[in-house]
Amino acid sequence: MTNIFETLESQVRSYCRAFPAVFRKAVGATLYDESGRRYIDFFAGAGALNYGHNHPFIKRRILEYLQGDGIIHALDLYTTAKREFLESLESIILRPRGLDYKVQFPGPTGTNAVEAAMKLARKVTGRHGIVAFTNGYHGMTAGSLAATGNAYHRRAGSSLLNGVSFLPYDGYFGPEVDTFDYLRRFTEDSSSGLDKPAAVLLETIQGEGGVNVASFHWLKRVETLCREHQILLIVDDIQAGCGRTGTFFSFQPADITPDIVTLSKSIGAYGLPLSIVLLKPELDCWEPGEHNGTFRGNNLAFVAAAEALRLYWRDHTFRLAIGHKAHLLRRRLTAIARQWESFGISVRGRGLFAGLAFEDHPTAARLISQEAFHRGLILETCGAKDQVLKFLPPLIIEENLLEEGLDIVAQCTRQVLAGGTDASIAEEEIQQTNS
Ligand SMILES: *Cc1c(COP(=O)(O)O)cnc(C)c1O
Repeated sequence: MTNIFETLESQVRSYCRAFPAVFRKAVGATLYDESGRRYIDFFAGAGALNYGHNHPFIKRRILEYLQGDGIIHALDLYTTAKREFLESLESIILRPRGLDYKVQFPGPTGTNAVEAAMKLARKVTGRHGIVAFTNGYHGMTAGSLAATGNAYHRRAGSSLLNGVSFLPYDGYFGPEVDTFDYLRRFTEDSSSGLDKPAAVLLETIQGEGGVNVASFHWLKRVETLCREHQILLIVDDIQAGCGRTGTFFSFQPADITPDIVTLSKSIGAYGLPLSIVLLKPELDCWEPGEHNGTFRGNNLAFVAAAEALRLYWRDHTFRLAIGHKAHLLRRRLTAIARQWESFGISVRGRGLFAGLAFEDHPTAARLISQEAFHRGLILETCGAKDQVLKFLPPLIIEENLLEEGLDIVAQCTRQVLAGGTDASIAEEEIQQTNS
């Protein structure tokens, strides 16, 4: 029953190839296909569903709003929904964290926020260059694609990809090499060939790039270097933000304050598209309408977003619950990595943002993901070679579902690594290389 997709929908479709069911409904951390089969969701819309599917309280607010003919589209007009969102953001998120930011609404997707952030940094500083990092992912439109490392994605953008220089992310050369030294040297040596950039753009944890985690120490030194040289620091918190790592912003425990922050994915709380750019007030040099658009600020998403902030972020309960589940996840993944030690598997991540990396057997991750899907678990891969299993369950997932999903992962790992012996994985890898 997937004919129409395969005949009419462009070849560009992607996730549906890995998970070729036809889904009908979803609740919390579970999805159901049209035959009623249940799947546990360890992907959560790539992090767009931190509060799960169809959260009952958020749904109730949305339904009330729709029932009352609340305004849905308003360009960027003042609306009650936008006011409530901004007031909640300020009182629940920004002020308690001592953060002083203005809010820009770009178009509704993550890449729109990154484009706006890069454009603003260039406008404010009068400089053109942006420093981004190996394995970084910032979106698919020309500006943000220029800051995305992945060759497969860059290929389609070709000549449009200008103005970004790449430097090694934390850990790029392994634990022995401190890549901050490169950034410092390239920035401070006037003969390095790196023109002074407008901004440094980074993820604190690289989501698409393989769940690569930057240490707090590295982040702190990057911030200090940026300050010393009047370079803006942009943190792309589109995937790692909104509670994914335990705190609302992923950069909080690193004790840094970026000049610009991009948020999307789960800020809309219900899977509704919404993006925001947070910028230090002194950077707000936009002229009215200078970065314009039809869908800036999605009022239904404002309603959902404000409700989620009120439900989850007014005290520490949610943060503690995430920490508790993160601990469980970490413990189980570490056990799997230990059990299959000879395969050189490593565990990465922070909070409910984790990866199981099969650097020595890159195809194992895809095989485990496929097998997990057959057993009713949605588990995506990431990294340049899809060599990392990515664990991104909704933050609200019940502990027993988390355990059940992890049981499936343990079984599939066994099946692929033991059933599929070293030799058969190696063969699979040769086939992939040849194809
Ligand atoms: C998903 C993502 C983006 C792009 O968001 P879209 O909504 O897909 O355009 C940008 N940066 C990061 C870190 C992301 O994870």
